[in-house]
Amino acid sequence: MPDTITVQPSGMLRDFLISGPGLEVRNPASDALIGSVKAFEASEVEGIIQGMKAAWGSWKAMTAKQRSVLLRKWNDLILANAEELAALVTLECGKPLGEARGEVAYAASFIEWFAEEAKRAYGQVIPPHVPGKRLATIKQPVGLTAAITPWNFPLAMITRKAGPALAAGCPMIVKPAEATPLSALALEKLAHEAGIPRDIFRVVPTMDPAGIGRLFCASPDIRKLSFTGSTRVGKLLLEQCASTVKRVSMELGGNAPFIVFDDADLDLAVEGAIASKYRNAGQTCVCANRFLVQDGIHDAFVEALSARVAGMKVGPGEEAGTEIGPIINIQGVDKVDALVRSACEAGAKAVTGGHRHIVGAHFFEPTVLTGITSEMDIFNTEIFGPVAAISRFTYEDEAIRLANDTPYGLASYMYTQDLGRAWRVMDQLEYGMVGVNDGLISTEVAPFGGVKESGLGREGASLGLDEYMEVKYVSFSGLGA
Ligand code: ADP
Repeated sequence: MPDTITVQPSGMLRDFLISGPGLEVRNPASDALIGSVKAFEASEVEGIIQGMKAAWGSWKAMTAKQRSVLLRKWNDLILANAEELAALVTLECGKPLGEARGEVAYAASFIEWFAEEAKRAYGQVIPPHVPGKRLATIKQPVGLTAAITPWNFPLAMITRKAGPALAAGCPMIVKPAEATPLSALALEKLAHEAGIPRDIFRVVPTMDPAGIGRLFCASPDIRKLSFTGSTRVGKLLLEQCASTVKRVSMELGGNAPFIVFDDADLDLAVEGAIASKYRNAGQTCVCANRFLVQDGIHDAFVEALSARVAGMKVGPGEEAGTEIGPIINIQGVDKVDALVRSACEAGAKAVTGGHRHIVGAHFFEPTVLTGITSEMDIFNTEIFGPVAAISRFTYEDEAIRLANDTPYGLASYMYTQDLGRAWRVMDQLEYGMVGVNDGLISTEVAPFGGVKESGLGREGASLGLDEYMEVKYVSFSGLGA
């Protein structure tokens, strides 16, 4: 058994750790135990849901501006505690501290954005179809909402849901991933400090994700479920939500193509590849998963990318200069290792990397593989590790066909200097998001989401608020006109 790390619980961490048995939280860099947090049972969660249901009326009755003021305070507190939050994120999720700081700012941005958007939840006045009638729509909060979130963005995947929910007038209960309850509890603490009532935003870490998931889905009191995670669990939750005809948002897996055409700016393409592939050690759902590189630029791209990747510093996230942190758990490392080995056995070549990293059991070398074909598992599986899998192609329509040859449709990327080609290819990519000469596409101001088996609904942007609002149509007659 690994030793318990010698971190002295300080600040928020001290508030969350309990001495008895609970949900154990580990540092993925060392597998050392950080401590345990309270694990909620389904029966307790049911009681919390009832309390939230009772509190909804007063939250809904507030003006959008009143809610906005509280959300603004929450945003300010997140930013004021940025260093402590970033340290928690790195501690339990492993990402380099610089990336964790970036996540804090990204997480806060959703609270700020929806604090503003809530004031603009406009309905419509519709020109009537017959004399004497007046028609209108208004938007109203859907009711009590629940979220189930992943470990790879332990702050931002919560605020992207809670921001619009609370802004729209909906209470939200969040079940965070088992690996990362600390960041979630920190957000909850700051929300309550900001004046958001306890029964309006709750976080319930648990060791029984399936049980709490079933409870959320079956509860007639919860009117909306927002999930970010695997397609497998998303499908299960969709089935379970059928019993209560619940509204759902689903941000599921991806298999992002990263297409580099002969006419691409090579430096830009390499920069984009680094940003999109190696962030969070390749553990984001919008990470480039399949590099499709045209014949004429293939060798130059491989050479330039490999040179950059070979120089990346691998280590614990809190160490200065770390670019690649750990994989979240040993199962994740095993999966990446198996994908790389089976690709190499089938003829792929590791130009750089290709093995587990000597720095620790949870680390994998930043890797560039060439010679990937569409029959290989690595081409068809979300890798979730720091491995660039490169295939080559000759024709534009071949690239489009390969890119779309997957049940997934979340993010896609393309590098070309030809404006006509950029538009033409973008038009045909069956994806919810396309980065043209851009490897970093996520922002609170634009709609994030996928098509096909990558999900349902959009988060962020003005559309993000609609996910938590119902449209009510009202027809006035007998007006005497
Ligand atoms: P990942 O592979 O990224 O961990 P998962 O889909 O397994 O993706 O996990 C995402 C979230 O879904 C986590 O909060 C996890 O606890 C939760 N989860 C996993 N299995 C279930 C389930 N059967 N029902 C409800 N939630 C689940």
